[in-house]
Parts: sequence; structure tokens; C-alpha cells
Amino acid sequence: MHAWYSSHHLAHHGHGELIGGELLAGFELPVRAERVRDAFVAADLGEVLTPADAGLQPILAVHDARYVAFLQSAWAEWRALGRTHPALGMVWHAGLGLPREEPRHIEGKLGFYSIDAGCAIVEGTWEAAYWSAQCAVAGAQSLQRGEATALAVCRPPGHHAAAALMGGYCYLNNAAIAAQMLLATHGPRVGVLDIDYHHGNGTQAIFWQRDDVFFTSLHADPHDDYPYLSGHASEEGEGAGHGHTLNLPLPAGTTAPAYLAALEVAIDATLQRGCRAVVVSLGVDTFERDPISKFKLAMPDYLEIGRRLRRLRAAGVPLLFVFEGGYATDEVGSNAVNVLVGLERG
Ligand SMILES: [Zn+2]
Repeated sequence: MHAWYSSHHLAHHGHGELIGGELLAGFELPVRAERVRDAFVAADLGEVLTPADAGLQPILAVHDARYVAFLQSAWAEWRALGRTHPALGMVWHAGLGLPREEPRHIEGKLGFYSIDAGCAIVEGTWEAAYWSAQCAVAGAQSLQRGEATALAVCRPPGHHAAAALMGGYCYLNNAAIAAQMLLATHGPRVGVLDIDYHHGNGTQAIFWQRDDVFFTSLHADPHDDYPYLSGHASEEGEGAGHGHTLNLPLPAGTTAPAYLAALEVAIDATLQRGCRAVVVSLGVDTFERDPISKFKLAMPDYLEIGRRLRRLRAAGVPLLFVFEGGYATDEVGSNAVNVLVGLERG
């Protein structure tokens, strides 16, 4: 198994975060990806490789071109106002149902292209997001070469980013970019299995009206936790996509038995839909000591998650793991890599 990692993620740092109404240092830190890479090496699972530059094409297959242009120029436009602190929007469209037109001013654009205040932009944000996506592209290419498993150590994460919206620390949807690529070789249907603590709202939105990608997500009940506005069990997709979204919200305090039972439901559904490759949005913020979430999974439970995923492998379905959330910096590497260890070694 290969892990795809790019040190460009280190350029995305120093951005604060609104937490409980206060602008604080934040949880989405560079050390997170470093720990995952280090744990992969320590577990002796395979080689860590640096992705080649596959360019913008795989990104533009999922994301709106004007949104991508905004991400590329946002810092320069913000800097042109004489500002050196992180760029953050303050005006959001909240579903008024009125026509939308891209603003000229960077403050307007920051809101126009955001679902929330979780995506400050600093000088290195585009560089990091671009190479995070390239890790996912390289991971998809691993599966396209016939490898059974690969890990993309993506940072920033991606599953809250929609086609033309950033949110929740996410700028480019790495999992969706990989799933879109895999359709070319593993179609007619691939799966995205999102096991991050938070609903993968961006991924769901990208594939909402499509029947070629089956999206399933285990996450905190959105009545009580971020992203609040989506992730209910009643959301099943629309039009051609009806029946191709499966949400499995779980209550605060969820421990392994209930979590693993929901995971089995998700695996069953993924197999029933005939998915020929699966992208796992690998968030480990389900951990009991994660600072921003309320599930209670313990360290050994991540090995068990990997063991349960062996059922997909037994059906001949290759798996690409795309790193998403996980903010307990001491354990994030071990927890993420233990899923792979459980898969590989039982
Ligand atoms: Zn999360």
C-alpha cells in the first residue's frame, strides 16, 4: 500500500477559527497530517510517496471554474486591501431563493463562496488545498493501476466543500475528486463511505442528483452538531440520485457497538449498489478524546473499523482512504492508521 503525502500542506497555517463566537487559534493544525504520515511509516504498511502534479483538470471535473479561480486569487485580493491577517467572510447567502451573482469585492466573494466561517484563507491556503487534492488524485491513480488500497494524507480536508462552496476547514473536495476519477475505470458506480464525525455535506451536495456515485455517511445527528443543516436520515438524493444517498446519523455519546452496527448497514448498502471502488472519507474525530466532537470511540475501535471493511475487500472492491477530520493531535495518526492496520492484518 502507498500513502500519498505532500509537504505543501504546511503552507496552510496560522488561520484562526470562530469557536463559540470567539476567534481562537483553531483545531485544524499542520501537525495532524504529519502525525498520520509518521504513524503510517511506524506501522510499516508501505511507502510514503509525493504526488506528481496532475494539474487542474481533475479538480475542475468536480469544482466550478469560477470558484477555483476565486481560491487561487483570494489571498492576493485580500492582501491588496493592505490586510495581512487571515481572510474571512462576514456576509453569507442564506437560501433566500433569489438569483446569485458573484460580487467584485473580496469580502463579498468570501461569503459568496462559503457555507460558514470555517475557512479562513492565508497566503499558503491555495497551495495546500491544491496539493491536498493532488494527493487524492494520486491515490485514485493507485487504484486505477490495480492496487487494492491506498491512503491519501490530505490536508486541508475536503468533505465539507461543495462544487462552488468552501466550509468546515475544507476548500477542495478531495474525496469527490477521487470518486469522479474512479468512475472512468471502475464505473458505472463507485461509492463514497464517509466515517468522519461530521456529515459530509459537500460530498453529498456534489453527488445529490447523480446515480453513479453512492454516498453514505455515519455522523453526529445534525439536530445537535455541525454542520447542523444537513445529514438527516430523510435525505436520500434527488431526481436520478434518489436512493443514492444514505445518511446514518448517530446520537452524542455513541460507542463502538452502535457505531459498528451502522457501519455494517453502510457496507451492506454499498455492496448492494454494486460499487466497484470505494473512497473512504477517513475522519477520526469520532474518537473519545477529540476536542470538537461527542462520540466515544476508543483507540482499539479503529482497528475494528478496518476489520469490518475487509468485507468490501473480500468482494473485490478496492479502497482509497482520504484523510478528513481528527483533532486529538496525540492520537490522530494512530487512530487513522489503525483503520488500515485492521484492514490489512485483521
Ligand atoms: Zn469532522
